[in-house]
Amino acid sequence: MNSPRTTRARISVIGAGPGGLTCARILQQHGMPVAVYDRDPGPEARNQGGSLDLHADNGQIALKAAGLLDEFFELARPEGQEMRQLDPAGRITAHHVPGPDELFKPEIDRGQLRDLLLGSLQPGTVRWGRALDAVGGPAGGPRQLRFADGTTVEADLVIGADGAFSRVRPAVSAAVPEHTGISFLEAWFSDVENRHPEIAELVGRGGAHAADGERGLFAQRNSGDHVRVYLIRRVPADWISRSGLTVEDTGGLRALLLDEYGHWSPRLRRMITENDGPYVDRPIFALPVPHTWEHDPAVTLLGDAAHLMPPLGVGVNLAMLDAAELALALAGAATVDDAIRDYERVMLPRAVETAEALEGGAADLLSVDVPGFGHHDAQQ
Ligand SMILES: Cc1cc2nc3c(=O)[nH]c(=O)nc-3n(C[C@H](O)[C@H](O)[C@H](O)COP(=O)(O)OP(=O)(O)OC[C@H]3O[C@@H](n4cnc5c(N)ncnc54)[C@H](O)[C@@H]3O)c2cc1C
Repeated sequence: MNSPRTTRARISVIGAGPGGLTCARILQQHGMPVAVYDRDPGPEARNQGGSLDLHADNGQIALKAAGLLDEFFELARPEGQEMRQLDPAGRITAHHVPGPDELFKPEIDRGQLRDLLLGSLQPGTVRWGRALDAVGGPAGGPRQLRFADGTTVEADLVIGADGAFSRVRPAVSAAVPEHTGISFLEAWFSDVENRHPEIAELVGRGGAHAADGERGLFAQRNSGDHVRVYLIRRVPADWISRSGLTVEDTGGLRALLLDEYGHWSPRLRRMITENDGPYVDRPIFALPVPHTWEHDPAVTLLGDAAHLMPPLGVGVNLAMLDAAELALALAGAATVDDAIRDYERVMLPRAVETAEALEGGAADLLSVDVPGFGHHDAQQ
């Protein structure tokens, strides 16, 4: 069967994360119709999580292609590039203070980035409350999207931008994410200058990392006077139930953490147990390395769906770069098949190379000196 021409193709993006939305935005800028389906009931359905740094050599390139770079810089926090390394006693062992013109990787809240991208799309582009179950239809296309609500949609191109546990991925690959042996527990703090001044001072304007070889934490400033802390531990994915607890049992989790981090300074322990609201469980998964798939003329993947890696600061950047490259390939190629080939020829080797470099890297977050950090301008 001949591949449809890109100008007439019915394009469906699954997932309204940073990757899916960037792809839809750039397609629309090139006059190409696209529908985005997301399982969330609406844009405000869940807290989008912490702060992201968008890099000049990938995330910012994608925003430029999307015509949104200036608006990004209006929202971004260059001062968020400040980074501190602390020891378990709470002393600063390395400290990077960004220069006045440093714009390599300014921070932005996930929620702000999502709003920026959503606001740039034609009204009605995202169809909320549409959880994909599976992709059916013949390998040559057209493909059939089967949703959990029983509806179906036919598409000439299915773009899987549906994250770590993608329902599009099985159409091209049998790979499944595996737990890295590392789990994050997220804690957040509101109104920090007034209510948590010691935490505000420890974290500074950007991020602070502390570890003792077995456990760690990464604290980050978010906009609106919030701080978010990831407690990083070498535990199985189901460690909470194994401990006889539930994630809602804030008191039980606090007691367990106080015991584990008992030898850390009281100042740092505040970041562990004085959080506002419940903890959020974030077991860290990654796809086996290398992850590639046989070319399919009607289905492709981007972002975490294509190359879920440990969260070491590249995930969203690669998702957005993939998205921009795929959208530009579709705008430039004659057929859908040609565009997917052009995109995957560049994306797959890059993803494999990065995943190989980061493989096992989640455990580096437990290391006293995170590789690549200590060479910054240590001041104390
Ligand atoms: C704790 C943590 C911290 C991180 N910190 C950073 C960081 O600082 N910097 C960085 O670059 N990266 C970070 N990452 C990684 C980053 O979050 C991801 O790489 C990035 O969000 C991937 O974007 P995406 O668009 O591919 O997928 P996602 O952001 O996961 O978006 C997927 C979308 O698909 C939707 N969806 C899922 N399943 C379905 C379905 N079946 N049907 C329909 N819709 C569906 C979801 O609702 C979601 O909107 C972190 C990850 C974690 C876990």
